[in-house]
Amino acid sequence: MSTANKPNERSGRSLDSSVAGRIKRLRNEFDLAILSIFGGSSAVVVGAFAIYRFATGSIIGGIVDVAIALGLSSVVVYAWRGRSVAHAGAVFVAFVVIACIASSIVFGRTAAYWAFVVLSISFVVTGPRVALAGSIVLIAAIAWQSALFNSLPERAIFVVTAALITLYGWISKSQYEIQKRQLETLAHHDPLTHAGNRRLMQKTLEGAVVSHHKRHAVAMLAVLDLDHFKSINDRYGHEAGDRVLVMLADIVRQRLSEKDSLFRLGGEEFVVLLNNTTTVQGARVVNDLHQQFNAGMDAISMPVTVSIGWAELLPDDDWPSWLRRADEAMYRAKQAGRNQVIMASAS
Ligand code: GH3
Ligand code: MG
Ligand code: MG
Repeated sequence: MSTANKPNERSGRSLDSSVAGRIKRLRNEFDLAILSIFGGSSAVVVGAFAIYRFATGSIIGGIVDVAIALGLSSVVVYAWRGRSVAHAGAVFVAFVVIACIASSIVFGRTAAYWAFVVLSISFVVTGPRVALAGSIVLIAAIAWQSALFNSLPERAIFVVTAALITLYGWISKSQYEIQKRQLETLAHHDPLTHAGNRRLMQKTLEGAVVSHHKRHAVAMLAVLDLDHFKSINDRYGHEAGDRVLVMLADIVRQRLSEKDSLFRLGGEEFVVLLNNTTTVQGARVVNDLHQQFNAGMDAISMPVTVSIGWAELLPDDDWPSWLRRADEAMYRAKQAGRNQVIMASAS
């Protein structure tokens, strides 16, 4: 009896977790939620119109509406199952623009009202450029059909009101994207030194480990820790200490190339990721960082030095073990008298 119940229990749990997983995605992925709501509700409304058209003998109208409802549903399914919700948003806009133009040709002036809905939705579900392109095509295609309007002034009013909706949508979406980028930067960077924070470091290192294992490329990780920094703060003040941290970050960034990254692990400890490098090149960069920081501190007469430990990514490494080895090497540099660079051993 207990074995007979097991499959049911199992399927019940898997259904629960799948529903829970979907709800979680809807909560976390705003674009997916918006696309599902707009696409789903539009498909239901257009589907209802299809029934009405068949019931009133408009077979072609019914077929067009069924095609639009199916198309809308397919885009929603694609948004859920495809690789990118952003791509699904662009496909959605292309589809609703074409559907709206097709409706205006088949159904006449009443379909033009849908243009306002499409113009408003486009900027919500996709980026400002794609939405703007879709909106211009739609406005031009509707305005071009003189039969849809009773008079020239009515046609002009359509163009002006549609253009204003488009302008408003474009400004709002562009502003939203700028603010989103600013928020992402704030969420991922340390405000003092503008180095990436711990959260970004974890994400970047996870990605680096996956891609470097796939391509067998060499990657290095260096941990930099300022020496006796507490006494520097005590002697010169916290603000002077802050300036040293900013200088360290600036010196490191100047030496790194585009593919490399700098993170502030916390306090006076930084992590440098060197991508697609060789052991010799990596060692050169790390030694340069050490020398250039010391030279920078000499130039402002600050007696601060830095200890650096670094480790090459090994085949069996995950990002915590990789970071641990670099950190241990840094501690060995401290124990060996500070102000030096030490490479991690392979074990
Ligand atoms: P060690 O050579 O062993 O690393 O010695 P240390 O003094 O550098 O290390 P310790 O961990 O004892 O102290 C770190 C100091 O870094 C303590 C704190 O005053 C300073 N610190 C941490 N964050 C900041 C910061 O944002 N600004 C400034 N000015 N100082 C900071
Ligand atoms: Mg220190
Ligand atoms: Mg420290």
